[in-house]
Amino acid sequence: MINALIDPTLLKTGSYLNGKWLVDSENTIKVTNPATGEILTTLHTSNEQDAKDSIVAANKAFQQWKDTSVKTRFNLLKKWFDLIVANKQDLATIMTLEQGKPFDESIGEVEYGASYVEWFAEEAKRVYGDVINLPGQDRQGLVIRQPIGVVAAITPWNFPNAMITRKAAPALAAGCTIIIKPASETPLSALALAELANRAGIPAGVINIIVGKSRELGKVFTDSSTVRKLTFTGSTPVGKILMKQCADTVKRTSMELGGNAPLIVFDDADIDKAIDATIASKYRNSGQTCICANRILVQDTIYQTFVTKLKDKVKEFRLGNGIDKTTTHGPLVSENAANDVNNLVQQAVSQGAKVEIGGKISPLGNCYFEPTILTNLNPKMDIFREEIFGPVASIFTFSTEQEAIEMANDTEFGLASYVFTNNIGRAWRMATKIEYGMVGINEIAIGSEMIPFGGVKESGNGREGSKYGLEDYTEMKYICLGGLAG
Ligand code: ADP
Repeated sequence: MINALIDPTLLKTGSYLNGKWLVDSENTIKVTNPATGEILTTLHTSNEQDAKDSIVAANKAFQQWKDTSVKTRFNLLKKWFDLIVANKQDLATIMTLEQGKPFDESIGEVEYGASYVEWFAEEAKRVYGDVINLPGQDRQGLVIRQPIGVVAAITPWNFPNAMITRKAAPALAAGCTIIIKPASETPLSALALAELANRAGIPAGVINIIVGKSRELGKVFTDSSTVRKLTFTGSTPVGKILMKQCADTVKRTSMELGGNAPLIVFDDADIDKAIDATIASKYRNSGQTCICANRILVQDTIYQTFVTKLKDKVKEFRLGNGIDKTTTHGPLVSENAANDVNNLVQQAVSQGAKVEIGGKISPLGNCYFEPTILTNLNPKMDIFREEIFGPVASIFTFSTEQEAIEMANDTEFGLASYVFTNNIGRAWRMATKIEYGMVGINEIAIGSEMIPFGGVKESGNGREGSKYGLEDYTEMKYICLGGLAG
């Protein structure tokens, strides 16, 4: 693996705590390449004591960091951004090797991840307050925003870079310090980012990356009264556990949890654009994103045409090792992930689904699942309710607008949704009536550092990115300034 990197020193083999690399613990995990099964590196993992030490370090660093000028924070974040961009080839290589996504997608994610650092470097200068003219001559009300304190973050493997920067950058911009536990499948991207933060001059203790057993480390963070906020991206069941664990210390939480995105295509839409959008949304990262189309709802009048056209495009995919430039779609992150997708597909088939294309684990290897289209589905099937997290397009039909709304809302999730229609009234009605944190109208590329990313219902709380994303790392304080009368 080291041979594949321009700068091999970006490959780290232990946690990053208080500006130091912990590379002598006895406990280790192996990080493997899902495309080949090759062991990329052996990583020294951290224990509960390290997690406790990281809280002490982050708290100590917070006492200084919170009082740094916004210009200092801007400069350091900007330097970090520049270094991420300068090293994007290596960061993308590391990501493809540990996560499996095609190299170009990895480059795209590194750029997307960097955009949060650049955005929040700027936003550090834009933390505003209010003045409230209280009645009478002798009092004024002031509202200010202060950094919330030490933040703990737990992140997933599907976006090993952007899920780190999306949390670390606003935390640092607001004046918080952060401890991040990345997913054990993809720790190397997180550690490489920490190395670049170190090179940028971000002081020791301000960013810490602790790799190890999720449950043990997570409990140390949630139990600590010094940690004032937990930000989590992952599954809804784990999010619920963490929210319960945070209740004892009444910690602030931001939860970016599961999705069950409907992608709704009306017969008045541009069908070719809707097909291209379906491909991009459904199959990006081989379907391992929480905002990817999970239920494709197509109006019955155009259903057959839609399926035929989609199938023709999916036939052109090239499944393979993401490092190979001709690969359009890579493996899933692990054998377990491929088995989970396989089980869901087989279950749908046993309930009456028709496999239009794909439908099984590929002969390429145990982590590869064939790009798949399922039809003959109905909302009673499990595949309507569950987050697929694989390259499986499940296509349902509806006949009326009202039915589309009811089907879209018939889920406990509420993260992303997409509607394809050229009827402006319908576009507005749909956007306001479906219960989602994000709605793309004739558009699936909804992500950006400039927008508030997040969900409603059991898809979580809080927003990441945009001006709102910074507020989530601050506490509001009201000051009543009295004794003003002369
Ligand atoms: P996924 O299915 O995408 O892996 P998870 O919710 O299982 O989603 O994992 C997301 C992150 O949460 C990972 O970093 C994982 O290690 C961590 N995690 C899983 N279970 C727990 C737990 N009980 N406490 C703390 N962190 C956890």
